[in-house]
Amino acid sequence: MAGYLGDKSANVVHHLGTMTGECNIYEIKKINKIYFVPDTIQQALDEKFTQCKFCIKN
Ligand SMILES: [Zn+2]
Repeated sequence: MAGYLGDKSANVVHHLGTMTGECNIYEIKKINKIYFVPDTIQQALDEKFTQCKFCIKN
């Protein structure tokens, strides 16, 4: 199972293991969902995604 899910419409990356209701992951359209290879936060950041403030803490 993937750990990170990117939302291309907002350029935000979520962590599926710690997501909250405020992430509104179910509102993300299928066409806007992206997974990362490798499945790491660093890869998401390298692809210019911003980490979600609700489910990803520094
Ligand atoms: Zn989130």
